[in-house]
Amino acid sequence: SIFYSKILIFLYNNGMFKRENTNLVKTKSLSIGHSPKILIQSMCDIKTSNIDEVVNQINDCASLGADLMRVSVLDYDDAKAIKEIKKKIKIPLVADIHFDYKLAIASIENGADKIRINPGNIGSKDNIVKILEKAKEYNVAIRIGVNSGSLDKKYSNYKNLHVAMVKSALEFIDFFEKNHFYSMVISLKASDPIETIKAYKLAAKKIKYPLHVGITEAGSKDISLIRSSATLSPILLSGIGNTIRISITGKPQDEILAANRLLSDLKLKNNFVRIISCPTCGRTMVDLKKIVKQLEPELIKINKNLTVAIMGCIVNGPGEAKNADYGIAGGNNCFALFKKGKIIKTVDEKDAMEELLKIIK
Ligand code: SF4
Repeated sequence: SIFYSKILIFLYNNGMFKRENTNLVKTKSLSIGHSPKILIQSMCDIKTSNIDEVVNQINDCASLGADLMRVSVLDYDDAKAIKEIKKKIKIPLVADIHFDYKLAIASIENGADKIRINPGNIGSKDNIVKILEKAKEYNVAIRIGVNSGSLDKKYSNYKNLHVAMVKSALEFIDFFEKNHFYSMVISLKASDPIETIKAYKLAAKKIKYPLHVGITEAGSKDISLIRSSATLSPILLSGIGNTIRISITGKPQDEILAANRLLSDLKLKNNFVRIISCPTCGRTMVDLKKIVKQLEPELIKINKNLTVAIMGCIVNGPGEAKNADYGIAGGNNCFALFKKGKIIKTVDEKDAMEELLKIIK
């Protein structure tokens, strides 16, 4: 109602952002927004018509915690592949379409749960309306993906990129609403962290639809992990963001793990193990780097709200990591196992990983 919308706008304008205050976008298979839950997503890096490979990648990402996955639709083979892929995966599938509205329609008809378009590059308004009609018919959500690199020319004179991006999004939202379409999620991605943060904070004041948060062209793993954390943390901690993607020039599996780690560190997710480990120093008498590398993939399989410490020495280890739930601290070719700062057992270096996992499990 208008009254409800006014209350929302009042709350947003007073800085009380809350992801649970956004509209709920609910379709046959998706529920986004109006909830504290932040959905994690990534995008396949394989051509969608390679069905088996795409299915394997999606299922792998789902096992690591992906809530939804996106695929590119470049042609009709890709659009048709959606039908087959959907039969073999358990999480919702998003189709990403540029330029050709007919591919958006074909993706919906083949079972996409949501589509992502940049209405600025999809052609005439008539074509957009055809997509909206099809999405309504199939009860499919649409993400309006505003991207700094493909803003309408009329915004080229704007001094503030974030203002231009939000204006562009508002224009599309208005057009969608005039056509009675409301199952929208909005994203405003730039490659500049500051502009991205400003864009989402401004958008949260003006947009009541769920926001998908990310930074575009974020770089290779090392670069993206810093850039994405620096950008997404202030946004997420302000109460903004219903879905996230940490974009990495790399594997989607890494994107899912990074998103899990970020949400877990920010206490916005509570079923992922936080791993802490010391940098090592001259006191270290065990191969800590090796055991950290071996333990990480095992610990991410444990869906529990735990902090696990992997420390190089017994002198400072348990003390420095006393807030950890479980941990190990290196000695002379051995490790002390500790729980909440108290040593409970000493084991050979070669057995440490197994013993720690046994205690945690
Ligand atoms: Fe060095 Fe021990 Fe600190 Fe690790 S925990 S950095 S080994 S003093």
